[in-house]
Amino acid sequence: MANILVIGGGFAGCIAGHILSEQGNKVTLVERGPRLGGSCVTDFYGGHPYTLGPRHFLAHKPGIFDFLDRFCPMKRYEGHEFLTYIERDQNFYHFPIHKDEVAEMPDAAQIHKELEACPGPEGAQNLKEYWQLSVGDTLYDKFVKSYSKKMWDIDSNSEITDFGFTPKGVALKSGPVKAAWTEADAGFPKAPDGYNQYFGLSTQNCDVHLNTEITDFDVEKRRVEIDGEWHTFDRIVSTISPEIILKNAFGELRWSGRDFMKVVLPVESVFPDDVYFLYYANDEPFTRIVEYKKFYENKSPTTLIGIEIPSNSNKLYPYPMKKDQDRAQQYFDALPEWVDSIGRAGRYRYLDVGMIIDDCMDLYGKI
Ligand SMILES: Cc1cc2nc3c(=O)[nH]c(=O)nc-3n(C[C@H](O)[C@H](O)[C@H](O)COP(=O)(O)OP(=O)(O)OC[C@H]3O[C@@H](n4cnc5c(N)ncnc54)[C@H](O)[C@@H]3O)c2cc1C
Repeated sequence: MANILVIGGGFAGCIAGHILSEQGNKVTLVERGPRLGGSCVTDFYGGHPYTLGPRHFLAHKPGIFDFLDRFCPMKRYEGHEFLTYIERDQNFYHFPIHKDEVAEMPDAAQIHKELEACPGPEGAQNLKEYWQLSVGDTLYDKFVKSYSKKMWDIDSNSEITDFGFTPKGVALKSGPVKAAWTEADAGFPKAPDGYNQYFGLSTQNCDVHLNTEITDFDVEKRRVEIDGEWHTFDRIVSTISPEIILKNAFGELRWSGRDFMKVVLPVESVFPDDVYFLYYANDEPFTRIVEYKKFYENKSPTTLIGIEIPSNSNKLYPYPMKKDQDRAQQYFDALPEWVDSIGRAGRYRYLDVGMIIDDCMDLYGKI
């Protein structure tokens, strides 16, 4: 039995705490905030449940969906569509861009010409090239150019050089237009408060300290300061940015954040049936809006819309540029063997919840 400290009680900390405590380890979990769940907590506004942004669940590998479903009963999504608004065409289209919808676009002839000449993304050095080589200039300009620039607050998408996550991984989709946008198993908790109950259940065998912050790290001596006292552990599982643990030794990592607006509307619902997200790819200040009833299926004569606006007021999205990823790697290389740096901030990667579960299972095994 090892004596393990988990720093941060978001999804990553709760999953790690769950697996490690079930395996018989002594797990102490320290969370700075007043409750568990981090950025996936469900709150209520106007009587409507919501999270900051959508937070629907995607399982990219077998076994991940079923794992969560065992502890947090889930509904599965079959129809699951995303639309993008293109102001130039004054129209909504599916995202990823669908081959069949190109025919409906006013500039279809030009786009088809460009598609025929596209060599494919092999050899692309950055996000701009990836899209131009995949779908040509016109589709890139319409769907990606402004969206990505406002998402990352950059002047050119050539700056994005670590683009393995390429938006949804697909440039141009074929098959049924209304099919789910991803091959992943998609779903959402059945409970009216989303994932909230799972956070308590997963940590029931951990020693949980809320409103508690790690104030100092002594990497040499394998100890951390909690509430003014030093404690030693066999292993530390950290879900916070590695720059904090190593006291900015290699300089600050860059992050993009989100401001979030909630709007209640005096109608029962506004989005079309199977549409869960709307993306806005033009120069409006927001990137995405969601209608929460789609996820929670709560009944009400009103509906709640959430609007995400890129900002630097918080640290939510690690930067997908090589120089930022290289700097993060310097931190990972400098972390001692007995510190695992996991989760979105800990890995400094654009991870979703399904990927975080997968990562924890790889590190700690299954329960
Ligand atoms: C706007 C937005 C929308 C998203 N939508 C989806 C989606 O639809 N589907 C999906 O699968 N993923 C989505 N994601 C990603 C997913 O939600 C995150 O990857 C996941 O929630 C991250 O979990 P985490 O535990 O790594 O981090 P967090 O949830 O950020 O948890 C970290 C925890 O650490 C605590 N902490 C920080 N510093 C300290 C300290 N010094 N001491 C103690 N505790 C500390 C924080 O209070 C926090 O509770 C979205 C992300 C964003 C930003």
